Amino acid sequence: MQISKHKVASIHYTLTDNDGKILDTSSGREPLTYIQGIGNLIPGMEEGLDGKSKGDKVKIKVSPEKGYGVKDEALEQKVPRTAFGTQEVKVGMQFQTNQGGVVTVTKVGLSEITVDANHPLAGVELNFDVEVLDIRSATQEELDHGHVHGPGGHHH
Ligand code: ZN
Repeated sequence: MQISKHKVASIHYTLTDNDGKILDTSSGREPLTYIQGIGNLIPGMEEGLDGKSKGDKVKIKVSPEKGYGVKDEALEQKVPRTAFGTQEVKVGMQFQTNQGGVVTVTKVGLSEITVDANHPLAGVELNFDVEVLDIRSATQEELDHGHVHGPGGHHH
């Protein structure tokens, strides 16, 4: 069986940036289990995994356009420090906005704080090392819900 649309695949992956820094890995955790072809993963990963078989080890390079998007400078904003009250604010901290999004602090000034609403991996070229552990067909219920049930997925 090969990974194709509506197949459920379990994978182990390690994600590094172009400097070799590990950004994320499933090593030491349960494998990532997802449904191919319905947007569970970023487009570059789905393309790179399409047609792969159980046991395959794949290196996938994903451009920002097929990853978490290019950086949009319009999403960087200066906010008055008073908006944070007496709370200590440091570069790298993340805050939930009233609109439900997440912003990351990129600069802390005396009276102004710069926050960035881009995804932290926007504009970053991604290098995935993937091992395909298992492939099966998705059930109709999983397709209706848009996520995997059972091991590595939702339990409900
Ligand atoms: Zn469900």
